[in-house]
Amino acid sequence: MPTLTNQDSTVLSKLADIKAITKPMQARLQKLGITHLQGLLLHLPLRYIDETRITPIRALRSGEQAQVEGEIIQAEVQYKPRKALICRLQDDTGQISLRFLHFYPSQINALKVGAHLRVLGDVRGGFFGWEMVHPQYRAVREDEPVLQTLTPVYPTTAGLTQGTLRKCITWALSYGDLDETLPTSTYAKLGLPSFKDALNSLHHPLPDADMHALEDRAAPAWRRLAFDELLAQQLSMRKHHARRRRVGAPAFKPSRTLITALLKSLPFALTAAQQKVALEIGRDLEQSHPMQRLLQGDVGSGKTIVAAMAALQAIENGWQVAIMAPTEILAEQHYKKMQSWLSPLNIEVAWLSGSQNKKQRDAALELIVSGKAKLVVGTHALFQEQVIFAKLGLAIVDEQHRFGVQQRLSLRQKGEKAGTIKEPHQLMMTATPIPRTLSMSYYADLDVSVIDELPPGRSPLATRLVSNERREEVLARVREACMEGRQAYWVCPLIEESEALQLQTAMDTYETLQVSFPDLRVGLVHGRMKASEKQAVMQEFTAGVIQLLVATTVIEVGVDVPNASLMVIEHAERMGLSQLHQLRGRVGRGAAKSACILLYQSKPLSETARARLKIIYESNDGFEIAKADLALRGPGEFLGVRQSGVPMLKIADLERDADLLEIVQKLADRLLSDDPQAVEKHLARWLMHAEELVKV
Ligand code: ADP
Ligand code: MG
Repeated sequence: MPTLTNQDSTVLSKLADIKAITKPMQARLQKLGITHLQGLLLHLPLRYIDETRITPIRALRSGEQAQVEGEIIQAEVQYKPRKALICRLQDDTGQISLRFLHFYPSQINALKVGAHLRVLGDVRGGFFGWEMVHPQYRAVREDEPVLQTLTPVYPTTAGLTQGTLRKCITWALSYGDLDETLPTSTYAKLGLPSFKDALNSLHHPLPDADMHALEDRAAPAWRRLAFDELLAQQLSMRKHHARRRRVGAPAFKPSRTLITALLKSLPFALTAAQQKVALEIGRDLEQSHPMQRLLQGDVGSGKTIVAAMAALQAIENGWQVAIMAPTEILAEQHYKKMQSWLSPLNIEVAWLSGSQNKKQRDAALELIVSGKAKLVVGTHALFQEQVIFAKLGLAIVDEQHRFGVQQRLSLRQKGEKAGTIKEPHQLMMTATPIPRTLSMSYYADLDVSVIDELPPGRSPLATRLVSNERREEVLARVREACMEGRQAYWVCPLIEESEALQLQTAMDTYETLQVSFPDLRVGLVHGRMKASEKQAVMQEFTAGVIQLLVATTVIEVGVDVPNASLMVIEHAERMGLSQLHQLRGRVGRGAAKSACILLYQSKPLSETARARLKIIYESNDGFEIAKADLALRGPGEFLGVRQSGVPMLKIADLERDADLLEIVQKLADRLLSDDPQAVEKHLARWLMHAEELVKV
């Protein structure tokens, strides 16, 4: 541990500039995400150890962590039943055994008879009275004073000891910038402690502090920091939003002919919700700065037609549109649909996927670069460098959470290549509803449109939970549905450990089901098939040739076969809530009564799995499910790729600190208009260089 001197304190920012912190230490700190002095300050303890008091041995209680002090009166290495170093420690009130199962010769020496030690560990009642296994210990003088603060335990990484971290952080507390970034009245009004007090009370709590409140992050100090962090996030997202407004994009006049013609050709009328969101999107497209809108609607709510309308507005104004989907199956389906909708309007639709041969591909690229193709539908292949648009004005991304930041960015830059604009408009679509707390935080910089009703004429979907032992009944249901002229999906279990195993399971299931149903036409689709094979199978299923489709989770997104009315999901207990909901959304798309059977393995069934199944069974509301999912798993799943683009919250918890969100939003607005200096200071403290990460 190098000594940190206050000479270094002149440099308050980067650790790399602080001489006392060696390169290897910097590397280890960086592993923890700490690159700046502020990062050290905000590296907060996981828990605490109480070394502020010494408990008389007689007053110990089983199950508690305690510190005792006394003299070793006996020490021996035992060999049976297994090797162990066992010592007896005595104080004025009693004795306790210390047991070490792994130990070094140096420990035998330190723990020898006559040593005066302070020992800290978990107390338990053993056969010979009190015992501590592998306690911490150190030799002390008889009159050595106890510590004056609770000892913090930090998250750390290999090669970085708690001692080193504590020293670095203590040093940062004395030399770092602990001034307020905002007027102090802001916090006083809310009953929150100052930044300095908050940090001191977290890093060095007084002996009488409520250790549980600190560890549960319920203490006012945590709340204060959560407040600051949420505010920083709001400020940064708002600034980002404002910056985007200064970027140029083509303004599209409302469509006069194409949209009307498309709507006329449809066998259905738009729902009120579809009309509402189409209007919101249409207005955005009239602006001369890029739209960044998220279209959210539960599975089957009819987002595709809304996307087509947006595309037509751009096309009518003479611009090109790209629609990108995360899987080949889904992209292909969009292509077919768009073609059937737009070809009658004399609009050329191009198709681009990774599985095309060179000839097909060159033809598609030519259509795109010449501007002949007004709409291009494809997979990730759309990002590739060779894809050059003549005039890209709108990029539509389906199932947006499936794409990486870089991928979406590179699609956006395709507009720039055309040389005329900075950025095309962007419409992102998702079936995963964003719970309110998330839309107020992580998604605060996006405009969101919600389709909150399903098209009419769909009969409700029944969800059944069936234990794997009752498989026979399920087989009967499948036969029945197919005999009635309906179709069914059989979804194979997710096997996270191994893709090969998952594939094997799918093949086995396929064979078994073929044997069970000699009279039905059974098909198989999985992720490892060639795109053309997948397409062929999906086509046969769509056409009704295949009656029962055995599938891996590749069909999770977007697949639309209205005649399919039954889905069986095997090992449903292994799947996440939103995944189950997405899968289930593949049925119940037509007027027929539909059902989803969740087969589960009841032994063993974990608590979380049970909770998940209960939720998916009880609710068919994507919004409720998303909220429950958020509570069970935290925000990571929802954010998908947002993660890497948006300042993540490390301290605040959206659930626990939900009440702060609203206050923070108002404050962010006010600060941005009245106190730009405070905004800069606050962002500098909380995000440091993270600002540049906010690109999405
Ligand atoms: P998702 O929002 O899941 O992408 P889709 O756009 O695939 O949903 O629509 C699901 C199905 O509902 C499609 O077959 C589509 O043609 C149909 N659909 C869309 N809008 C309506 C409507 N207003 N009335 C009836 N059917 C509709
Ligand atoms: Mg869809």
